[in-house]
Amino acid sequence: MEPLFPDYFLVPHKKEYITHPEKREKGKCILCAIRDREEGIPAYEVYRGNGVVIILNLYPYTSGHGLIFPERHVSEYDELSFEEMVELNKKVLQYMRLLRIVQRPKGFNVGFNQGYEAGGSIEHLHFHVVPRYPRELNFIDLIGKTRVLLEPLDQTLAALRRHLEVFEEDPFLPKAE
Ligand SMILES: [Zn+2]
Repeated sequence: MEPLFPDYFLVPHKKEYITHPEKREKGKCILCAIRDREEGIPAYEVYRGNGVVIILNLYPYTSGHGLIFPERHVSEYDELSFEEMVELNKKVLQYMRLLRIVQRPKGFNVGFNQGYEAGGSIEHLHFHVVPRYPRELNFIDLIGKTRVLLEPLDQTLAALRRHLEVFEEDPFLPKAE
């Protein structure tokens, strides 16, 4: 079956960004380079703390599409220590709360792709958190088969960074509503 958004999935410079050797230390993975704040590596960092980094996906599926990854280079979920697993999941919950405050999505797709065969293009384990909104598909998405983002990444980032207090709340406690 033809993918719904072939142009989106075949962003030509994405491969270059992931594989470009001279842009970062040889053989180093892109998420490790972002973690180390290497020069020339574009990164929209929302938050980092307790061994976890949250960035906006450069090729977002929707506005606010975040990548959440452990600072330690781990390629499989069961390589995480119990503490890392708890912390990573905590950040997933906190990021979802952050998106709820700022972007008001109506739903989420959350998960990770482990291994090339599963669609993972980066070996460093990372969760995707994709907020979903009503009436996401517009005329151009369907006719032009190209995703159109209504908001530039730096604007999304600035809006999200105004509510970093969510990372101080314990997401495992029941919501005070
Ligand atoms: Zn890595």
